[in-house]
Amino acid sequence: MTLAGIYVHIPYCKQKCHYCNFYSFASNNYRELFVEALLKEIKLRKNYLGKEIINTVYFGGGTPSMLNIDELNKIIKQLDDVFYLSDEIETTLEANPDDLNTEKIHNLKKHTSINRLSIGVQSFFDDDLLYLNRVHNSKQATDSIENAIKAGFDNITVDLIYGIPGLTEKKWRENLRTFFDLNINHLSSYSLTVEPKTALNTLINKRKLENIVEEESIRHFYILQEETDKHAFTHYEISNFAREGYYSKHNSIYWLGGHYAGFGPSAHSFNGRTRQWNVSNMKRYVESETAENIIKEKETLTIRQQYNEYVMTSLRTSWGCDTLHIKNVFGDSFVKLFEKEAAKHIFNNKLLKNASVYKLSKQAKLFADGIASDFFVF
Ligand code: SF4
Repeated sequence: MTLAGIYVHIPYCKQKCHYCNFYSFASNNYRELFVEALLKEIKLRKNYLGKEIINTVYFGGGTPSMLNIDELNKIIKQLDDVFYLSDEIETTLEANPDDLNTEKIHNLKKHTSINRLSIGVQSFFDDDLLYLNRVHNSKQATDSIENAIKAGFDNITVDLIYGIPGLTEKKWRENLRTFFDLNINHLSSYSLTVEPKTALNTLINKRKLENIVEEESIRHFYILQEETDKHAFTHYEISNFAREGYYSKHNSIYWLGGHYAGFGPSAHSFNGRTRQWNVSNMKRYVESETAENIIKEKETLTIRQQYNEYVMTSLRTSWGCDTLHIKNVFGDSFVKLFEKEAAKHIFNNKLLKNASVYKLSKQAKLFADGIASDFFVF
């Protein structure tokens, strides 16, 4: 059975983090019109996923925790009115620590159906947070998690970034220790990257900030694997670690080829046949009267593109890439191509084979995207 989910993009932030290349901005422009436009888009695109049962709703951004309880409930109600939401739905809110004071968390728990929090901690050290230009401090980071637990949230994930200049191996281990001491069941951890057109890129080029050192990021990744292993977390996707029963249902939809509708500016959607992107332009988004006007681009995936995507996403996960699936969906010729390429990587200990399933070896996970691209068919 294919799972289906809904993503809602909230582009507001209190300040722009140096490394950020998401569609988000530090202003409240069009705030009221935006929520109305979201409600309108949800209605306009109600047929995108047919009659599929929706298993997950994910508020991402931007900083969705900047929305107040009424705004969140209006959006959730609209989704409930328009789609078939599962009784066991996972509803995640991305939240920044500075928004999660006791009152806000209490209200989220008591007055909304949000049952999973994704807290953007990034680091428990103030100097890292300063480097990243995060708006919160380390005390707010721990307080927000403790407040969330006290309020009764038992499904919490935390984001941590490694490879930050100045983050020594000792400090990285301390960050992970603080995380494990808080007894959270899910961790998403990413290597800091310098994307073009970000403030970080400019500041590094002007030598106002130190550049990242790739070898340090690599060492941090192996420490991450070691520490999560020790604490019985499964490395179930390149950047995601969890205890049994706490995997992100929503992100698993992306990784397992499920279907999703994305609402809000810049949001992506995929229904098994077509993929589309909304405009990254708030003015145009709120002024659009039709679903077509909101779409920036739409493409129908060829069989080769679908195959490439399957290999790319499945190799990143602990479920691995299954040649039985390739045979059933893409045909024998693709199995042959896959096995031919796989033999080289098995020989180099980058790939492990168990019956029809191929997985990356522990060491090779760091190079997942490069290895996957060797399998691409054009
Ligand atoms: S809070 Fe997230 S979306 Fe907002 S600027 Fe920072 S990284 Fe970007």
